Amino acid sequence: MSPMMIDISNVPMPQSYTLRRVHGKRVVVLEVTHNQRPARCPCCGADRLHSKGHYMRQVRHLSYLGQPCVWQVHTRRYTCTQCTRAFVP
Ligand SMILES: [Zn+2]
Repeated sequence: MSPMMIDISNVPMPQSYTLRRVHGKRVVVLEVTHNQRPARCPCCGADRLHSKGHYMRQVRHLSYLGQPCVWQVHTRRYTCTQCTRAFVP
């Protein structure tokens, strides 16, 4: 089955992720967006966070019908205004 034939409305996703599209030939690529802003800094617990722009990471996933599969996760990078540490949710 070609990745283009996957009905993305039937692919189960965690609640904080949205599947945008599926593509690729030898490797099935699922482009997903992480759409949940973190409430607090994971380092100090402060709630004042500043977005530092977009960030993309690629995560290897279980194979799909024998083909290698990866997630391209599009998210944002944040900086805590209190402890100045940067993190990605
Ligand atoms: Zn902090």
